[in-house]
Amino acid sequence: MKIYADNAATTKMSRTAIEAMLPYMSEIYGNPSSLHSEGQAAAEALSDARERIAKRLGCTAREIIFTSGGSEADNQAIITAAKMGEKKGKKHIVSTAFEHHAVLHALEALEKQGFEVTLLDIHDNGIVTADDVKNAIRPDTCLVTVMYANNEIGTVQPIGEIGAVCREAGVLFHTDAVQAAGHLEIDVIKENIDMLSLSAHKFHGPKGIGVLYAKKGIILQNLIYGGAQERGKRAGTENIPAIMGMAAAFDEACDKIEANSAKLCKLRDRLIEGLLSIPHSILNGDAEKRLPGNVNVCFEGIEGESLLLLLDDKGVAASSGSACTSGSLDPSHVLLALGRPHEVAHGSLRLSLCEENTAEEVEYIIEAVRDVVSLLRGMSPVWRDLESGKKEFILK
Ligand SMILES: *Cc1c(COP(=O)(O)O)cnc(C)c1O
Repeated sequence: MKIYADNAATTKMSRTAIEAMLPYMSEIYGNPSSLHSEGQAAAEALSDARERIAKRLGCTAREIIFTSGGSEADNQAIITAAKMGEKKGKKHIVSTAFEHHAVLHALEALEKQGFEVTLLDIHDNGIVTADDVKNAIRPDTCLVTVMYANNEIGTVQPIGEIGAVCREAGVLFHTDAVQAAGHLEIDVIKENIDMLSLSAHKFHGPKGIGVLYAKKGIILQNLIYGGAQERGKRAGTENIPAIMGMAAAFDEACDKIEANSAKLCKLRDRLIEGLLSIPHSILNGDAEKRLPGNVNVCFEGIEGESLLLLLDDKGVAASSGSACTSGSLDPSHVLLALGRPHEVAHGSLRLSLCEENTAEEVEYIIEAVRDVVSLLRGMSPVWRDLESGKKEFILK
């Protein structure tokens, strides 16, 4: 059996997305900036994709900028708000301790330029509150950036409430919605979102393409200078095939949000139930306010990396945290922010499902994890100390 359960890292492209791309790699290959009909055919497609994506987010096409993905969109949003703030002498930014590194590392770079950053606590359940945001905002705050849903533990933030707080305070609000877009209903007007990032490869679209929504009136700061593409705010010939694939994947995902969510929540909850029946385990993040496909559990007395490798041998592709931190030996910054001690955070497992996963696969995963966890515990000196009572269990 081969089971892919790492959809938070990336997804398989849908047939719809692939087919939407093909004509733009063969017949319709013009440069949208060219005045001839080949170019204009590409320009029309580009404009159509922009319209469709805008409609899904509840904004206008002029407010959509195509980027190389979520990381670039996050960077551009944050740097834009920082530049705007700096002009008015406002150099304070509010964010959270469990943002994606595309946000955290951009903020660190700004700190080196004299910005001050407040990272909000994510509490025991992995959720920041609108009150926390409200209390952190100061007269010199130029930006609040809070992710829509977390990529490791899947918790969904009260974005509408945070947006309302920001509007009241007159502070720009950006949300990294990379994990939410195509999975949850988003409405930038209702939720008072000024800037939003999304990435196609997290909803069955191609890699290397994303969107930055920036509300009318926000003058975006260029990260890339050159031609006049994207209203002069993001130079470089547009990646039309990827943009068409993204638009098609986004339409498809948005059309299926309700059906997919109903199906996934069932699979997710069964998977959580099965994994938590393994002794000395704990769920990371709120049980209800989480992405429909996200499961994240810690097992005491084991090491996440070995768990992943043995699961891979059994045909299960999973993750211990985010793809970005795998490969480093540090435990996930998200689990540490959640208050998990290092030795517990090390034994984490993230399974992120998509609508193609089945109930049968979920049962297989539960058995596979059960086997691997007991195998690893059987070999672990730490586990022996825990069982003999020499050391105390952290997870009861
Ligand atoms: C994947 C991801 C990103 C990065 O998006 P890319 O398109 O891979 O650059 C940013 N934020 C979150 C929450 C993500 O899950």
